[in-house]
Amino acid sequence: MGSSKKSAKQDKTGTPTALSELLRAPLGPVDLSALDAAATPGYPGKGKEDAPAHTQALGPVLSDLQEQLFANGRSAPESAPRVLVVLQGMDTSGKGGVVRHVMGLVDPQGIALTSFKVPTPIERKHHYLWRIRRALPGPGMIGVFDRSQYEDVLVVRVENLVPPEVWGRRYDEINAFEAKVAEQGTRIVKCFLHVSSGEQKERLAARLDDPTKYWKYNPGDVDVRAKWPAYQQAYEVALEQCNTEVAPWYVIPSDRKWYRNWAVAELLRETMAGMGLDWPAAEFDVAAERKRVAAS
Ligand code: ATP
Repeated sequence: MGSSKKSAKQDKTGTPTALSELLRAPLGPVDLSALDAAATPGYPGKGKEDAPAHTQALGPVLSDLQEQLFANGRSAPESAPRVLVVLQGMDTSGKGGVVRHVMGLVDPQGIALTSFKVPTPIERKHHYLWRIRRALPGPGMIGVFDRSQYEDVLVVRVENLVPPEVWGRRYDEINAFEAKVAEQGTRIVKCFLHVSSGEQKERLAARLDDPTKYWKYNPGDVDVRAKWPAYQQAYEVALEQCNTEVAPWYVIPSDRKWYRNWAVAELLRETMAGMGLDWPAAEFDVAAERKRVAAS
């Protein structure tokens, strides 16, 4: 359980298909209505009942990878790799749940989480990528963006916050920005948490049925929900325009929370396992240090 072989589907020849291949956003036009938000591609177990165990089983592997990344950041900050996980999705799609259940599997010291809200007056004075740049992960860190630069082609586009010619330029700008970030040593993983309209309705209603969830309920979410088609379209364009090899988009079916959590954890494991991480060599004479410790 938790190994790459068991956590991936097999094709006709018996070769396992990596989850990254199963979940990669289609190249070219994207039709979200054709992608099943309740699907569970690549899931190695039975379903909801064994999902927590499968996700937990990824913990030790992810922890080791994260520690290796962190160790590289300590020993060679100038050249150390970094990881950036971008989480986007409609309200209730579970960005917070992923942070809790997936990032919670590793040492919190290695995670740099940033939640992007409505820009503050100071942020507004700057270019929209200013606050993004400042939040990029440092050497050896896993950066997590709860919302991101994509808000500037999503809510901004749907709500007409800037003219179309302004947001229209941003897809190319974001691609150029991400290419630069990747070139500087950051592995980028962008996850669109794909939830259906029906499931969102149930999750919003559930918040109203439970006083311990009132704090999560925002009446404004219903106004955003009323613009569902426009948001889906904005997401489709962002997925199509910004799905590059160095900063790929993955569509995570998110109607089933247990699948969503497992899938993001496995995707992160697969990505980090592919980075060729290793433990940094000692920068001191190990034998000599052993002697000194023994004599101390
Ligand atoms: P979650 O992200 O977990 O759903 P939330 O909805 O509770 O959190 P809010 O305080 O509502 O958090 O902040 C997120 C809001 O900020 C969203 O409505 C989002 O569209 C908005 N936002 C983020 N970035 C921008 C931006 N660049 N321009 C305008 N609005 C933005």
